[in-house]
Amino acid sequence: MVKNLLIKGNSKMGPSVNLFNLPSKKTCTPTKWCLEGMNGKPACYALRNNFLFLNVIQGAKERFELSKQEDFVDRMVKEIHRASPKYFRFHSSGDFYNAKYVGKVIEIAKACPDTLFRTTTRRRDLSDSIKELNQLPNFIVRESLDSERKIPKMGLPFAALNGLPIVSESDSYHCLDDCPKCGYYCWEHSCNVDFDEH
Ligand code: SF4
Repeated sequence: MVKNLLIKGNSKMGPSVNLFNLPSKKTCTPTKWCLEGMNGKPACYALRNNFLFLNVIQGAKERFELSKQEDFVDRMVKEIHRASPKYFRFHSSGDFYNAKYVGKVIEIAKACPDTLFRTTTRRRDLSDSIKELNQLPNFIVRESLDSERKIPKMGLPFAALNGLPIVSESDSYHCLDDCPKCGYYCWEHSCNVDFDEH
């Protein structure tokens, strides 16, 4: 069983970031692009590279089970207070899996006002509760777009591949893929973000 719910940020994010991940596919609503968009192989980064390590897959599964427990909010809040990260990323892998879980994330963010949270989502079926989360002063949710979902429909800012027409048609911040260098811009600003496919 995982010792900590929180995960330390990787080298691109830096030590000011903590994360909480869930299993991809099981919790998100993957498009064909996610599953096969890179020459027949997954384009979604959460289905590639380090996310294929057995310990990472097992950790996400265990965190998914723990997120369903009654003490999940208390445990998360205690760990965030102890680690006191300035920035927090929900779901480098995975997504909101039901409205009850979104409600738990709302409680966590409200209890941790000194931390800035962000995430991306494809769960259009949970738009109402996710929009409520996005209204918190310390939480930004972006709708994830790709070549099969080219237009945002959730009433949220978007996160999109930079080849999509919506990026050139809108104001959008280009992700540098180096958070300390970029000054954690996408945590600090509720803007659209575009990123390179890699
Ligand atoms: S926009 Fe900046 S802070 Fe956000 S993920 Fe990209 S590099 Fe990191």
